Amino acid sequence: MDKKRVHMAHLGCAKNMVDSEIHLANFHRLGFESVEEPEEADLVIINTCGFIQSAKEQSIDTIFSMTGMKKAKVVVTGCLYQRYQDLSQQMPEVNGWLKSNTMEEVSQLILDLGFDIPKGEYFSSEYDRILLDKSCHAYLRIAEGCNKNCSFCSIPGFKGRMASRTIESLVAEAETLIKKGICELNLVSQDTANYGSDIYGVAKGGGPLKTLLKELVKLPVQRIRLLYLYPLWLNHDFFEYMASEPKICNYIDMPLQHASSRVLKSMKRPGSKAEYLNEMQTIRSIFNNDVALRSTFIVGFPGEKEEDFLELKSFVEEVRFDWLGAFTYSQEESTSSNKMKNDVHHRTKQRRHKELITIYEQTRQTLPSPVGTVRNVILEEEINGVWMGRSQYEAPEVDGVIYVSTANGAPGKSMDVRIDAELEFDLEASEVGRA
Ligand code: SF4
Repeated sequence: MDKKRVHMAHLGCAKNMVDSEIHLANFHRLGFESVEEPEEADLVIINTCGFIQSAKEQSIDTIFSMTGMKKAKVVVTGCLYQRYQDLSQQMPEVNGWLKSNTMEEVSQLILDLGFDIPKGEYFSSEYDRILLDKSCHAYLRIAEGCNKNCSFCSIPGFKGRMASRTIESLVAEAETLIKKGICELNLVSQDTANYGSDIYGVAKGGGPLKTLLKELVKLPVQRIRLLYLYPLWLNHDFFEYMASEPKICNYIDMPLQHASSRVLKSMKRPGSKAEYLNEMQTIRSIFNNDVALRSTFIVGFPGEKEEDFLELKSFVEEVRFDWLGAFTYSQEESTSSNKMKNDVHHRTKQRRHKELITIYEQTRQTLPSPVGTVRNVILEEEINGVWMGRSQYEAPEVDGVIYVSTANGAPGKSMDVRIDAELEFDLEASEVGRA
């Protein structure tokens, strides 16, 4: 029997990508094969994002564009549907809706849509994923949900409280990924620093996360990267362990969201500019300045005054982040900040966003130049005769990359390179000893 063809339209963050990969694995087990183009598919799955207004709009646009093709059957899943389940009543043009990625729900949907399930195809493997990214990194989702209560965030409302996966199940999934050729594991969750608080007890300080890392570093993987670390949660001992373990990237991704204690309080987040400065300085000193710092910030939170914004700007100027993302605040249903008065005018939000990015870009240029230094890079793909790769200081998808001149490239190859030039955010390099 000919295989039916499925196309995954994936939207949203790295955590959602893991769901897309599990969905695809389920469809493969049930007799489908993947196709790159939606026009070639019998079934299109749209894994939506519903985090903020722009993500919701993009998800809705994608649904309309896929249903508008009137060729494949269209199934919608993901955060947008988890958040707004009445969408299934409002969009009759969608053929099916999936709340979860359990085999039971997926196989029932396939039958409801009129597809056959070939006999003997079904097998169960809890950790199997069809990787969407063809490079050698993958995301390992260590927990789902969040116990924090940030006033701007809708995630705890529809993802629920934190549910960590066991160390044993994560090691098993990591082993499966490594067997598929993955050489860099990126640990993700809504609140990675708090991993294990629900199943292993107190997580403040990073104890359960460190226990997990100690198991993962025993595996034959080249790099492990931690993403989404909550501020003021991990202790010195944890950062010292990170700095001492060669497989763990010297990379700290800590979304701080703001630096004014007045705004942070209103966001229901901990800390102040002084505490955050101290945290960043402590991290740099523990890593002996050999670490990339990444953070994200929200500008235009309700009640953010010019003086709060100036405090944020001066914080960014003082820290000099390697990587920074900035967002303008958008009001979201089911968040406590949605009810706050004093919304900042959208033109002020835009202006502050632009100013924050400018100050980041200017201060980034004052960081020590990497030109002339040697970095270990894992190559990902060849583009017009040049290899694109990343070192431990660049996370996939969100940061810059390193373009390497080499005649010896191969996907997943680890190579020492000398940095020759800085582009705006990317670097140019050549293989050490072969330049
Ligand atoms: S820690 Fe992150 S996911 Fe949790 S409520 Fe705050 S912003 Fe949302």
